[in-house]
Amino acid sequence: MDKDRKKLIFHAIYWIIGLIIIFGLPHLWLSLQTEVIPYGQFKDLVKQGRILKITIDQSEIKGLLYKGPAVELPDIKEKLKKLTSTDQAGDLDTLMGRRAVSFQELAQQLNSKINPPGQVILFRSTRVEDPKLVETLDQYGVDYSGLQEGFLGQLVWGTLLPILFWVGLWFLLMRSMGRPGAGLLSIGKSKAKVAMEKDTGVRFSDVAGCEEAKEELAEVVEFLKEPQKYEALGAKIPKGVLLLGPPGTGKTLLAKALAGEAGVPFYSISGSEFVEMFVGVGAARVRDLFSQAKTNAPCIIFIDEIDAIGKFRSAGMIAGGHEEREQTLNQLLVEMDGFEPNIGVILLAATNRPEVLDPALLRPGRFDRQVVLDAPDARGREAILEVHSKGKPLAPGVSLKDIAMRTPGFSGADLANVMNEAALLAAREKNSQITQAHLEAAVEKILAGPERKSRHLGDKERRRVAYHEAGHALVAFYCPNAMPVAKISIIPRGRAALGYTLQLPEEEQFLITKNEILDKICVSLGGRAAESEILGEISSGAQNDLEMATEMARGMVCRFGMSEKIGPYALSRETSPYLRQQFAPQQIEAMGPELASEVDGEVRRILAEQDARAKDIIGRHKEILGRVADKLLAQEVMSAEEFRVIIEKNTNETGGKDGS
Ligand code: ADP
Ligand code: MG
Ligand code: ZN
Repeated sequence: MDKDRKKLIFHAIYWIIGLIIIFGLPHLWLSLQTEVIPYGQFKDLVKQGRILKITIDQSEIKGLLYKGPAVELPDIKEKLKKLTSTDQAGDLDTLMGRRAVSFQELAQQLNSKINPPGQVILFRSTRVEDPKLVETLDQYGVDYSGLQEGFLGQLVWGTLLPILFWVGLWFLLMRSMGRPGAGLLSIGKSKAKVAMEKDTGVRFSDVAGCEEAKEELAEVVEFLKEPQKYEALGAKIPKGVLLLGPPGTGKTLLAKALAGEAGVPFYSISGSEFVEMFVGVGAARVRDLFSQAKTNAPCIIFIDEIDAIGKFRSAGMIAGGHEEREQTLNQLLVEMDGFEPNIGVILLAATNRPEVLDPALLRPGRFDRQVVLDAPDARGREAILEVHSKGKPLAPGVSLKDIAMRTPGFSGADLANVMNEAALLAAREKNSQITQAHLEAAVEKILAGPERKSRHLGDKERRRVAYHEAGHALVAFYCPNAMPVAKISIIPRGRAALGYTLQLPEEEQFLITKNEILDKICVSLGGRAAESEILGEISSGAQNDLEMATEMARGMVCRFGMSEKIGPYALSRETSPYLRQQFAPQQIEAMGPELASEVDGEVRRILAEQDARAKDIIGRHKEILGRVADKLLAQEVMSAEEFRVIIEKNTNETGGKDGS
């Protein structure tokens, strides 16, 4: 069973760490404190009288060395003598190692008596065959007798005690693990914790690219700072604010910033933590959360991912899981109704799936204010990059604006990731600054996954990938409404992509026209077309292209009313109406069999037409296609500029671009 394996791994790690600590650490510690000196130098030091005490064994000389001013030497030696003679140890004590024993201890005691301390150190030197050694030692009065660490003592203090301690700790751990819901092995299981932060450390200035949302929340900040002002006017501040937006757009961040700006405590809890809980626990936690908050008003309660508890109460039940959720939600509603709006507790919640929320949550007096956080636009993206470039040295000439243009559809989290990846790349290259190239590489990595240079393709497959990508690029070039090609690559990336063609819009787009979708479909089919026209057959590599093309064609017919035959008739709806997303999941409306087959016919017609068009473009420009593919095979990646140069050279030879 899985749990048993986890346990086994835990045991193994526990004992490995234990062994390392028990046997390895003392040696490591000692060798760190010990200075190694060559034998020659050791003899010089003996002659200078700086060697205080040593032991000699077969291979090594170990002992104490005084590094301080020579005038104090006699004094030091006096002190050492006192230390070693005051404890006249018996044989048993010697065995148990309880005399002022180790050099370490001696050094410590001596150092504590002199000023400045640290001048007496441990040293070690390799023993060289030297018959005169003893003579020399005697001559300079170095104490080389005794001070062998008792074997038994070493055993008891150095090994047995640590083992006993480790075993004891082990038993304690095992006992606590036996209890359900506690102990080490259950970390990470259903534990909805209320986390309280006095200051989140986040400010509005850390959140960029969502000015409207910040403006709306600024009012809440005002209220939390000066509730009297609002009370005097009789104004009611909303009890609950719901932050809506796709993942990574900064909902959690904004909630923290709100608390930070207002300077009030921040109680946060995540809805997903309730899911696995025992019945009743969730409701109790909610009660607890609100009572804590009320005694500490003004403050903010933040429920992250509220959809996990706030799901529509009769929708999509999973057996067993729902009763708990329902209780929790009911308790939440009760609590929300139970406090006066002006006591200074503001309830914030965040979700990226507002459509599944129970309508009861959205009624007036509950989450009656809703703030939408969308994926940022180009200006917003630039601002977010700006925020995350704080503390990261950018090379002169880096244009964040340019990066912002290259990243349509990126969320704040993606952009934060871009900045971080770029910094990592710069560090890997031992560069002290982040350059534009680092940023661009980071964008690509996030778009298409990390490069996988180790995935080696055979020559035949590489050739296929090169023609496939060249096909996309070429069709994109000859489709007037397609986005320009920014880069072509046949370096495998991520989990699946063997190559990719990056297209970027010339400016930010929120709408898409019929001709643009058609061209998009055509470009998607371009890779397949090149494979079939040049190599004679297609491969499974075009699967994703085909899925995308079909999705788009279906969207044209069913959602955008772009098919003449079907006409303006919305046959499917976006399931997530709050979030603007071009090809979001859709819900198909029921339709009769005739209409359904007509829709299928239209979708297939569109796809077939665009496929023919792509093949036509490829057929007319085989020569250019071949050159692009060859260049790709030679250098793996091609910039927009290089691509344009190839096309221009060839069109001049063959008599101009045909445009269609
Ligand atoms: P969400 O809760 O909406 O899924 P988060 O607030 O957890 O997203 O955002 C994740 C990270 O992405 C943040 O910690 C921050 O680093 C970055 N981020 C997201 N949006 C923004 C933004 N608007 N401005 C600055 N950073 C952002
Ligand atoms: Mg979040
Ligand atoms: Zn493709």
